[in-house]
Amino acid sequence: MRRYFVGGNWKCNNTIAQTQSLINTVINKLVFDVNKVEVAVAPIFLHVPWVQANIQKNVQVALQNSSLTKVGAYTGEISVEQVKDLAIPWVILGHSERRQYYGETNEIVGKKTRIALDYQLSVMACVGEKLAEREAGQTTQVIQAQLDAIKKELTTALWSKVVVAYEPVWAIGTGRTATPEQAQEVHAFIRGWLKSQIGTQAEQATRIIYGGSVTEKNAADLIKQPDLDGFLVGGAALKPGFADIVAAAN
Ligand code: PEP
Repeated sequence: MRRYFVGGNWKCNNTIAQTQSLINTVINKLVFDVNKVEVAVAPIFLHVPWVQANIQKNVQVALQNSSLTKVGAYTGEISVEQVKDLAIPWVILGHSERRQYYGETNEIVGKKTRIALDYQLSVMACVGEKLAEREAGQTTQVIQAQLDAIKKELTTALWSKVVVAYEPVWAIGTGRTATPEQAQEVHAFIRGWLKSQIGTQAEQATRIIYGGSVTEKNAADLIKQPDLDGFLVGGAALKPGFADIVAAAN
């Protein structure tokens, strides 16, 4: 009943020539059933217009971040009005790299999520625990606090435009993937949170995707988990193996 979702987060990688090559050799060759899986890729802001003009119609474009502030005197920012103007459908918010390197707190992520949704963007909202938090038995507590901060900002109806990305920080870019069981345990917790905090509709319809060292080697096993609705892929989204990850969800 839930359509799978696969996001490719290209992070701060690629020259324009490399992005063009990735689009031409991998992304535009993807073949998948849009009724089964939704695919979105997130280039750097500067490459977005070229990507929009050249990407195959079945793959959507996402941003890796959007602003807390609106149009105006905010040097260096790109506002959601400007994003909307470019008709970009998706944004990744709350990525652990934004939290870690740019001081994005749960509160900021919650507010950014509401502002993006106010401007009709759909949001991949990232949550996940650090290794020390997992080892201290605080995983669900950390994730609950991250989700609660988003809930504080959103009406129930807005959840239909949110995909929750569970990305354990210890698995991002490390080659250490969560086992299917570890992922399922947290995804089930998130689904339970959606049921108790937002409602049955959100519990059943919200996609919960997994991110953290997903590759073409582990995607097929992970996707078998009942509460895992797809992937947010970093490093492997820059390589031909991305096609196999999409195929695992197809
Ligand atoms: C990410 O950055 O969202 C991510 C999941 O990265 P990687 O796949 O490289 O671990």
